[in-house]
Amino acid sequence: MANQKKKKVTSHQWKWQQEQEAAGKCRICGRPLFSKNYCFDHAVRARERQREKLGCVRRNVNTALYTQDKQENNEQEEK
Ligand SMILES: [Zn+2]
Repeated sequence: MANQKKKKVTSHQWKWQQEQEAAGKCRICGRPLFSKNYCFDHAVRARERQREKLGCVRRNVNTALYTQDKQENNEQEEK
């Protein structure tokens, strides 16, 4: 009963993020998705943030995020 009286509060930011998610875009910047939730840049940032938080030592070098990283580096070297 109390729920019916309460007004749902959603910030503009939260609303925008929900719209991006529904449209299949990165919820931070709105670019096309690379991983489940983020574009490539933000997926890398999320990975590094979690690695630091969890204290990871090994890197799964053959995963998409790392192989894509290499391809971009190679393209930059060629130019
Ligand atoms: Zn992004």
